[in-house]
Amino acid sequence: MKRIYMDHAATTQLSQKALEAMLPYFREEYGNPSAVYSYGQAAKNALEKCRNRVAKAIGALPTEIYFTSGGTESDNWAIRSICRMKCEKGKHIITTQMEHNAVRRTLEQLEEDGYEVTYLQPDRRGQITAEQLEAAIREDTILVTIMLANNVVGTVLDIRALAAVTRKHRILFHTDAVQAVGHIPVNVRQLGVDFLSISGHKFNGPKGVGVLFCKLPNRLRPLLTGGGQEKEERSGTENIPAIVGMTEALEENIGSLKENMEYLNGLMKRMNESLTELPGVYPTGDPAHRLPGFCSYVIEGIPHSVLLVNKLNEQNICVSSGSACSASSKEASHVLLSLGYENPLASGALRLTFGIDNTEDDVIHAAEAVKAAIQMIRAEQVSRAPRLEGRVTEI
Ligand code: PLP
Repeated sequence: MKRIYMDHAATTQLSQKALEAMLPYFREEYGNPSAVYSYGQAAKNALEKCRNRVAKAIGALPTEIYFTSGGTESDNWAIRSICRMKCEKGKHIITTQMEHNAVRRTLEQLEEDGYEVTYLQPDRRGQITAEQLEAAIREDTILVTIMLANNVVGTVLDIRALAAVTRKHRILFHTDAVQAVGHIPVNVRQLGVDFLSISGHKFNGPKGVGVLFCKLPNRLRPLLTGGGQEKEERSGTENIPAIVGMTEALEENIGSLKENMEYLNGLMKRMNESLTELPGVYPTGDPAHRLPGFCSYVIEGIPHSVLLVNKLNEQNICVSSGSACSASSKEASHVLLSLGYENPLASGALRLTFGIDNTEDDVIHAAEAVKAAIQMIRAEQVSRAPRLEGRVTEI
């Protein structure tokens, strides 16, 4: 049975070009970039070339690019670093109720350490307004962290408008752009953000590598201390093969961004048309501002999404109930609850995220399989419901 992979928001396949670019750095060019001899310097050159290329891809300066172990580290580092940088000013942070756990859990831990966090509630589509943000700002606000694109419903937020508010108040702005980079145009200057997180494996690069863009170079407080790599700000021997692979994949994706977006949106439209033929299937997120090829729904009559994911898995179709980190959880996603969906509807969520390797035939086949699975689960629920006949008392 052919595998149909429709979970590109969870992770993506390493591109062939990225793999080929990485290979020499495993066995031929394996020098340590911190070594003084020329063999080490060859690795250092590769590293700095990647820094330049990544900077160019997102409209930054090379000095503003730091390589990390992925989106989680970039989020943690930005948030914790700003807290330490601004400790004299205050302990108030603003975020949203629909952030990824890499941000959410970090903020929860900071709350235990005495920080106060305001969680802005998104509207039904997953949008936050500039007015909402402005109203939450206080004298002691030191950081606003709001994601560029949501990983459960695919909404793309107006970060440019939100960052303009914080600039006016001289408050630092971080955005988690993990789901956006490589999928929609992202330019740090146009967005006006101070910090931005990237993860390699979301755009056909390798896993375990990412980027933190920081507009305040040389002011970051290290999360990892040690040998002083990355200008003394992020210690640990640089993962050269992964950095090279991520850079290659980023350029490759950005090079064909427009065609990819059109293609993926075509697949998304097709899936939406097919699934919404069935009553009780509701698309979630913002139809006007969303990631390309990102389909998300809440579905009536599905007590929890795992039932649906498992049924499709039996047919080798890989989809998600929401974010990968809660894939096995039977609880509704905090994102859907924050958007105002209530249980049981919020528990019956489905996310299908396409990549350019998906074909129109895949979509047609998967759509039929999803509809059949929904009907099967609904029928099972009806047959399991307690039978009341014979027990009804006439009054
Ligand atoms: N932020 C968002 C929005 C994500 O979707 C993810 C991954 O799912 C992360 C952060 C974490 O990134 P990584 O897997 O590179 O640690």
